[in-house]
Amino acid sequence: MIPIIIAVDGYSSTGKSTIAKSLAKVLGYTYIDTGAMYRAVSLHALRQGYLMGSDINVESLIADLKSIEISFFLATDSNSVVCLNEEPVESEIRGMEVSNCVSRISAIPQVRAFLVAQQQMMGVKKGLVMDGRDIGSVVFPKAELKLFMTASEEIRARRRYDELLAKGDDVDFDSVRSNIAERDYRDTHREIAPLIQTDDAIVLDNSNLSPQEQLDWVLKKVNQITSNL
Ligand code: C5P
Repeated sequence: MIPIIIAVDGYSSTGKSTIAKSLAKVLGYTYIDTGAMYRAVSLHALRQGYLMGSDINVESLIADLKSIEISFFLATDSNSVVCLNEEPVESEIRGMEVSNCVSRISAIPQVRAFLVAQQQMMGVKKGLVMDGRDIGSVVFPKAELKLFMTASEEIRARRRYDELLAKGDDVDFDSVRSNIAERDYRDTHREIAPLIQTDDAIVLDNSNLSPQEQLDWVLKKVNQITSNL
């Protein structure tokens, strides 16, 4: 089978990473979670004190981008773990502190250019499933398969809340829900690379589909595409 690029975009907590990870596993592809990259840059900005309340010291962050090295490794449970300058930060980047600032950091054009260049390098050999917000529109506009994931806001907030509780985080449902709504608003309204559904993307509303049903549905599409290459 000729390897392809699968772009998975969509709103926050629509299960993009669940389907993307399963697809990568079944197809033997590399999986890249680009949200984790924006989250890692945000964690760095928080640690360096570039965020003060609602203000971001954009100049200092931009000047410091070259000191940020982001990498991934596959953990024994086959989950991908993101590293910031070789330190695994998977747990830190998922907390509310990072969630509350990541959409402001990701709207900075220089941050996007810095990460998009790295993401494009990862696709040189194809055989890649990448999830995010601008993968089908900006990072890989020629991706052979583009998925646009959606689900009701209530269901998405419930999933995210359950995930955070399972991790032992002390969170309340309303703040998780408002964070999701706020990120969706910022991600769809920013000037650079806003989240959009491209004309050639296939919409997958997974409000009422199990992960296995989603996987079967997408694998059929992958087979159709690769058999025509
Ligand atoms: O995917 P996840 O929800 O972890 O992404 C966190 C944030 O990173 C998003 O809300 C968005 O602001 C940003 N992001 C982005 N472009 C991507 C992936 C994520 O702007 N390709």
